[in-house]
Amino acid sequence: MKNIPSSLNGKNLNVNHTKNAHHLDTEQDLYTQELGDNHIGGAYNTPLRDDAFIMNDDEKIEKITTHFEQIMQILGLDLKDDSLKGTPKRVAKMYVKEIFKGLNPAQKPAITLFDNKYQYNQMIIEKNITLYSTCEHHFVPIIGKAHVAYIPNGKVIGLSKINRLVQYYAQRPQVQERLNNQIGEALKEALNTEDVAVIIDAEHLCVASRGVQDISSSTITVFYSGKFNDENTRNEFLKFSK
Ligand SMILES: [Zn+2]
Repeated sequence: MKNIPSSLNGKNLNVNHTKNAHHLDTEQDLYTQELGDNHIGGAYNTPLRDDAFIMNDDEKIEKITTHFEQIMQILGLDLKDDSLKGTPKRVAKMYVKEIFKGLNPAQKPAITLFDNKYQYNQMIIEKNITLYSTCEHHFVPIIGKAHVAYIPNGKVIGLSKINRLVQYYAQRPQVQERLNNQIGEALKEALNTEDVAVIIDAEHLCVASRGVQDISSSTITVFYSGKFNDENTRNEFLKFSK
């Protein structure tokens, strides 16, 4: 097993990592932007360390492969078996390049806005957006739907960008409450409006397949901002998102 870099304790960030310095700057800058000026990790921010991007993707995949191999070894699995030998690398790539890809702010979708030339000033709802995330307490899937609404303020968003934004925040270890808030806040910022609502209705496999093994329950979280705090507006959204 290779040594875990001393940087993992959150200090000594610059030792032996000069070749990734540029990489670090860019992604760290993006992350800082996402945190906002005060750089305080609040309820909306995924708890990432300052040195989260000191390693590049390939280095992360290599390290996770080694560690996952050890987990499998400890479980007693025979890694010489044809079916198992590729698993550690496969899992490592899946973590870094797919299901936890959204930890990296460089992956945040660029949002294009269009002029609202039809002068449409009622709510726009996009419902049943497929959502796959991962419970950060058990590292098993959260599967559900997101329903999003906003009232345009001069500009409108390309509809597929809403799906991409949902996906970006879902591709992190998450708790549903935070995921819901992150999507809501990101939309407010992207659309330059307070008038945003987001509902997530999701099943947590940590509840369904283990623990209490309740396969019929789902968890609903909501984010209402601006005009969606008004009961009529909110009810209209709820009616259409059913
Ligand atoms: Zn869980």
